[in-house]
Amino acid sequence: MLIDVHGHIGRVLPDRREFVDVTNLIAKMDAWSIDLTCVLALSEHPEGAYLESDTEDVLAACGRYPDRLIPFCLIDPRYGNRSDMDFSHLLEEYVMRGCKGLGELLPKMDFDDPRCLNLYRQAARFSLPVLFDMQDRPDGYGLRDDFGLPRLENALRLCPETVFIGHGPTFWAEISAEVPADNRSGYPAGPVAPGGAVPRLMRQYPNLWADTSAGSGNNALTRDPAFGLEFLDEFQDKLMFGTDSCQRSDVDTVWTTVATIRDLRTNRTLTESALEKIEWRNATRLLNLTAPQGARSG
Ligand SMILES: [Zn+2]
Repeated sequence: MLIDVHGHIGRVLPDRREFVDVTNLIAKMDAWSIDLTCVLALSEHPEGAYLESDTEDVLAACGRYPDRLIPFCLIDPRYGNRSDMDFSHLLEEYVMRGCKGLGELLPKMDFDDPRCLNLYRQAARFSLPVLFDMQDRPDGYGLRDDFGLPRLENALRLCPETVFIGHGPTFWAEISAEVPADNRSGYPAGPVAPGGAVPRLMRQYPNLWADTSAGSGNNALTRDPAFGLEFLDEFQDKLMFGTDSCQRSDVDTVWTTVATIRDLRTNRTLTESALEKIEWRNATRLLNLTAPQGARSG
């Protein structure tokens, strides 16, 4: 059984030919032996030029494959542009219609902007974990934080009821105590220096989880293989497999994070129980899912 907590549909690139419709997503899942995918909304934020991937698009796509797809909803924290905006009418509706999480949250705002804290708190009231992307670049998309992730820590402390699912280059660069200033939104290579912000915060705050998705997650977990295995083992109760595949043609390859989880299974470098938690049990628990009939096991 394999659950991808980080999938997408729609036009994620400005190229209008790059439309991932729901059948392409299902084809990728079949090619990579993924049983269930969480489909994350994007279009509520203008930062990424995202099209046809707002919450309504996600709900419609998931409605076509209710046994394979799980919808996430998204609200831009700037909606209403105040730190006490009431989102409960939206959240209540989205939960009623089946949404299991809030994401992918990636506005170009400080992680602990009062408008973001307001949204985090309200998501928790509806039991929706918040999946975010963090990027250090001044332009483009992604929540911002300083070296050592003090703003994320502030949010973890101020919103103890909110479960955060970490993702993105700047989040994962901080797996190491040594973060290259010129590559904090990229894929730092080489050994991981102990004492990084991500392991420290994951150890200290029960409400910080992470997914393994994208080049950034895969890089963080494989750049220093021995450290990566220790990290997977230590945080086996709060890591979840993900892909973050955004293009149609991805179906022609074996996605990097899929290859990594297969390697772990083939080489038996993690215990069977740790692997099962990362593959599907943690997602099932966090998102309160019931495994579908006939789901592949093992
Ligand atoms: Zn994504």
